[in-house]
Amino acid sequence: MDSYSTNEALFGRRKVRFAYDLPIGVASLAKAIGASDPAQLIREHTLYPFFVALLEQRQRDEVLRAMLSDLKVHNKVLGRLSHVPRPEFLRFCPACDLANEANAGMRYWQRRHQLPTSLVCVEHRIPLRASSVTTSSGVQRYELVSEPQVQGSPLLPEMGEPSLERFLHLASVGYDLLDWQGKARPAFDPSLRTMVLETGYRRSPGHDDIDNVRLAREFRRDSADLIRLWPWLAKAVNTAGHYGWVTMHTTRDAPPSRVTFTYAVLRSYLQLKKSSFFFPAETRDWTGIHVDLSAVERRRRMESLTEKELKKLVSTTIDQILLEQPPVRALPTEIFRRSPAIAHAWRIDLGGQFRSLLTDRAESLDSFHLRVIRYALTEASRNDRTLSDSDLLHLLGKRTIDEVRKLRAVVERDGFGTDKPSFGARSLE
Ligand SMILES: [Zn+2]
Repeated sequence: MDSYSTNEALFGRRKVRFAYDLPIGVASLAKAIGASDPAQLIREHTLYPFFVALLEQRQRDEVLRAMLSDLKVHNKVLGRLSHVPRPEFLRFCPACDLANEANAGMRYWQRRHQLPTSLVCVEHRIPLRASSVTTSSGVQRYELVSEPQVQGSPLLPEMGEPSLERFLHLASVGYDLLDWQGKARPAFDPSLRTMVLETGYRRSPGHDDIDNVRLAREFRRDSADLIRLWPWLAKAVNTAGHYGWVTMHTTRDAPPSRVTFTYAVLRSYLQLKKSSFFFPAETRDWTGIHVDLSAVERRRRMESLTEKELKKLVSTTIDQILLEQPPVRALPTEIFRRSPAIAHAWRIDLGGQFRSLLTDRAESLDSFHLRVIRYALTEASRNDRTLSDSDLLHLLGKRTIDEVRKLRAVVERDGFGTDKPSFGARSLE
């Protein structure tokens, strides 16, 4: 099925934007798939429980209503949630994929791996990997967890215990913040303020003032890896000792910060600290590690690429698309959705050249249809079926039967069902 037909089946509409983390339009989805409780879909299959964990009931209901509705609403609460770092690509654990394939007959994207706090798989104790499926909802397709999509780099370098333990702990805290199912307000006792006081950051005996500056300094000293991943975590307090993200969580004034991500980071740190955890200080080799870039950093890197490097980036991405099955046409939209870097270059149209470069490299309709026919015939012969010309016409649409016969003749002349890797550039003769 193409994306439009899938949208139609799932939502009753052909055009849908469905975010991976906090999607809207869930009531329509529930109706179309016969789920009786759309709110349950949200609680059990989206990242909603994590992002609203620290909100008041009223705000949680507001987010829930926005997610149920089909209307694109500008929700103040949803807007604020966007301050949390988002992965650029969906993440996966190779060991979970194999286990899911063995147990459930297929791989699937796992919700808890997409949490901003998840850099390792808690079950398998290995770093998660970044797939090639972007999380930006610019252009949408339904993506299986298939081989071409899951060859990404790990999110963390090789590290022994206890460095890995730090990330395992953070991921578990994230899981806890996801697994309360979003019903009654979870009891996250004690509060971070209480934990900070109990962990020894009381400014002086008898007072419950917090020495935020010392806390921030020690957090920085103990968190080289975390800060390497999210540099802004270094701004735990500002120069006057106020209003950093740490202070927001430990303030005496209500309400404290509602940002679940930094809450999880600080909670995990304090719990480890309290259990006399040893925070290692050595540096590691981060070559080949996927690090999500901030928008600013991405722009800076894009702008420093030479034309040759840009062309190489585009070629690599096209090669990757041509490997995917069922076939997808390598159009500019498909090319830039595979790579946030290319998407960015498209938006700013680097040097006025980039859009035309991408358009020039786009796959012709003939080439794409040849690939579709080859794929269909190969799949059919594998299942001992034959396809008529009109079956193929139905698959391609917008073609005459004569054109279909010509395309088919090209594919049959070259042979199909073999392991010919690339046939992207051939055109109809
Ligand atoms: Zn796993």
